[in-house]
Amino acid sequence: MRFDWQAEMEKRRESLIHHLTQLCAIESIRDESTAREGAPFGEAIATALDYMLDLGKTDGFETKNVDGYAGHIQYGEGEELVGVLAHLDVVPAGDGWTSPPFSPEIRDGKFYARGAQDDKGPAMAAYFALKLVKESGLPLSRRVRLILGTDEESQWKDMKVYFEREQMPDMGFTPDADFPLIHAEKGLIDLTLSGSAPQVETSGDSWVLSRFEAGQRPNMVPDAAGARLAGDGDVFELKERYQDYLLTHRIRGYAEEADDYLTLVMEGVSHHGSEPDQGLNAAYHLAEFLGDLPLDEVGSRYVAFIRNYLVDSFFGEKLGIAQSDDITGPLTVNGGVFRYEPGEGQWAQLNIRYPVDGDHDWICRQVDERVTSYGLTVTEVDHKAPNHVDPDHPLVKTLLRVYEEQTGQPAKPMAIGGATYARALKPGVCFGPLFPGHEERAHQKDEYIRVDDLIRAAAIYAQAIYELAK
Ligand SMILES: [Zn+2]
Repeated sequence: MRFDWQAEMEKRRESLIHHLTQLCAIESIRDESTAREGAPFGEAIATALDYMLDLGKTDGFETKNVDGYAGHIQYGEGEELVGVLAHLDVVPAGDGWTSPPFSPEIRDGKFYARGAQDDKGPAMAAYFALKLVKESGLPLSRRVRLILGTDEESQWKDMKVYFEREQMPDMGFTPDADFPLIHAEKGLIDLTLSGSAPQVETSGDSWVLSRFEAGQRPNMVPDAAGARLAGDGDVFELKERYQDYLLTHRIRGYAEEADDYLTLVMEGVSHHGSEPDQGLNAAYHLAEFLGDLPLDEVGSRYVAFIRNYLVDSFFGEKLGIAQSDDITGPLTVNGGVFRYEPGEGQWAQLNIRYPVDGDHDWICRQVDERVTSYGLTVTEVDHKAPNHVDPDHPLVKTLLRVYEEQTGQPAKPMAIGGATYARALKPGVCFGPLFPGHEERAHQKDEYIRVDDLIRAAAIYAQAIYELAK
């Protein structure tokens, strides 16, 4: 008898959407101000984790909360363990949503909410997959754990603590990117560049850069940038110049005078930091404009750093770290966060993704050597080594076969620049939820997942869990 996973999952459609709506209403953005014991990343993230674990408990699963860092929902018997790893934290919503990002709404068959695609939708699909496997009564010879992480979008501290205390699955997958399957991911480096910025006085007709800021996260292309200028220069002329720049480059923005300052604001287009050339980096454009103005020495050095090393250099060319391989393609650099204020200091955060055979130490040395002359010191905030699972590994072969069986489409393993949770599993691959050719909306405004796709993915996950654990 052939079990019809898709038909069975269809019967659970409404329930899945109901629970996903509840889950996506929780603003589970990392918030240290509400962190406490048992909620290391803040109240909202703890609430999201509790929601999932309570759901598991109610449905009769064994569950465990590892001090709020992560948790799991387990089913099955046996020594060996299969892992499915998803995350419940989300990146900030950003502006410009059609409907409120934390009030989920279905329009034209699409479920809109922050986290719909990355990664609450897939987490809920994986949960319903596990639930269907349980309800099917099909026998398993291995245990399956749906592991729910809570710090994927920031520092992966959740996984560090979780796997210090809990068993590493013998193999697993994470539903956090694309179908059919990702077997290779670039290495990831987050660098913070920082330095002092002394107070400066206005002199002659040059402007003092009294503030520059853009971006919230290193792994997102900044969708807004702002600068504040002080000085006795010709404000009218400067405003005209700014309007010209905006028009020529077809960028939205404005200039505004208030409290002896001229504020310049620019709008960009946010995009995932793994594809920095696909967004419009507001900080880069604002630096490009400011770079042609007579600015004070300290401010102009900060702007020059952005121009000389980052602008028009999405593949690390200007930093001297460009490299590429046949498995994962070129290294990328995203300037995701910028802060500058005299008296306070200057900062930038870079998100670098390097090919599977790249050299992490060499990359860091190159960046370090270049930025020191701009008064900046490099600190590595995060490093994740590349992930690469052999295409002939049984994990890869089984998942691809399941995908082909359910979709009727031929499936080949892929390589990406995004760092997914797959590399927290050893070995681990990424498996869905986005079907080929469908729009990627992770980390963007109006993030959504097609409800039909979500159900289809859940059915694929159910069979995948069964095939890996039977
Ligand atoms: Zn994700």
